[in-house]
Amino acid sequence: KIAIFWFRRDLRLHDNAGLYYALRSGYPVVPLFIFDRNILDDLEEKTDARLTFIHKAVSEIRQALRQKEADIMVEYGFPEKIWENLVAGHDIAEVYTNTDYEPYATDRDKAIYRILKQKDIVFKTCKDQVIFEKQEILSGQGSPYTVFTPYSRAWKQKLNDFYLKSYPTKKYFRHFHQWHGSALPSLREMGFEKTDYDFPPADVDDTLLKNYAKERDFPAMEATSRIGVHLRFGTVSIRDLARQARAHSDTFLNELIWRDFYQQILSNFPHVGKGDAFRKAYDLIKWRYDKADFKKWCEGKTGYPLVDAGMRQLNAIGFMHNRVRMVTASFLSKHLLIDWRLGEAYFAQKLLDYDLAANNGGWQWAAGSGTDAAPYFRIFNPASQAEKFDPKMEYIKKWVPEFGTDEYPEPMVDHKEARERCLQAYKTALDKA
Ligand code: FAD
Repeated sequence: KIAIFWFRRDLRLHDNAGLYYALRSGYPVVPLFIFDRNILDDLEEKTDARLTFIHKAVSEIRQALRQKEADIMVEYGFPEKIWENLVAGHDIAEVYTNTDYEPYATDRDKAIYRILKQKDIVFKTCKDQVIFEKQEILSGQGSPYTVFTPYSRAWKQKLNDFYLKSYPTKKYFRHFHQWHGSALPSLREMGFEKTDYDFPPADVDDTLLKNYAKERDFPAMEATSRIGVHLRFGTVSIRDLARQARAHSDTFLNELIWRDFYQQILSNFPHVGKGDAFRKAYDLIKWRYDKADFKKWCEGKTGYPLVDAGMRQLNAIGFMHNRVRMVTASFLSKHLLIDWRLGEAYFAQKLLDYDLAANNGGWQWAAGSGTDAAPYFRIFNPASQAEKFDPKMEYIKKWVPEFGTDEYPEPMVDHKEARERCLQAYKTALDKA
């Protein structure tokens, strides 16, 4: 009999909760990774850098396992079908994995649970991706927090060394099943092309953290960690990172708390992950579905240089600075009055660190429909944001080289008029509710 450990968005051998419990199960452990066609078939770009990232991470896991005479089973297909074959072909006692809180993953895991249960195979899911799950931080009344500040206070109060302890997986590596698997399916075999994008390193410099509070809002300074993609796919451990944050930067720790916050919002209020506004009244807003305007925003040709710089950064490298994400998202939903869901989907397609909970949280915050949002009548002015956060226009000049020449377009909307149009549309909708 064997135990299977199923890797998903936790692509590391070190400090991995589910893997640790699998290795201590008493059964020889066979690791598994599935290139999931339910997800892959929906990707629009055949050169999606995220696939290259995942492929590389899985290959590295395999290399490390092979040094221990162990291996990883790597499948390409539909998880339900794959699991049906696995239970038919192997004598499996237990299956371990780490909880994934997104709606697709939750439904998929329910289906796998049923397949395993028919054969009396135990399916154990572990907390690994967050410090605190949805039921762990609740208000005095036992309900989830919907405002960040009290949530973060309660989060910090609950935190102690126990929650940040690494799982010592290495001590138990001898419990991997000793075998030799077949080759990884190549990207090309799965219909994708390798990208030669330079991914950011999987560690954060202590000096960066020390300067983080004062520099993180200035996009030209590149003073943020870029660790998002590693958190997304689990190539770093959130516990390691939170320990480092606790030692060097409370502001950075706070950002990691935002991550937990939006994860618990998605778990406790699943409607946000299914296309609905967190505050339902905001679904009464009459959005403009102007394709030409949306295209200008996507391409970074709005005539507002900070917005354009952000969109071009996103299109070029799959990353956008947080301050600029707020400005571009606000510009789409408020200045252009275009449904934030279109922007959310565009970011989802482009961001290497795309994460449903954080992306949805960020978009609904910007559109005013989310948790903890500023009142809708507070509308970012993209020009003054640029003056304040890119005073020497370094970020703008880097991404919009033609800024200041005839080639650069006039602003596509007038700030004042757009602001009025937005206030009117929001007011009409919210008065109805
Ligand atoms: P750092 O500033 O170095 O922060 C470290 C980590 O903290 C981040 O990697 C991230 O995991 C977490 N974090 C920081 N800010 C937030 C936040 N506001 N909400 C949740 N987690 C946070 N973040 C994503 O991880 N994926 C997304 O798809 C995403 N979409 C966003 C969309 C919009 C409209 C907005 C306004 C924000 C979005 N964010 C998203 C949050 C934030 O912009 C990014 O996490 C951050 O810019 C990533 O860069 P970094 O790794 O250098 O962050």
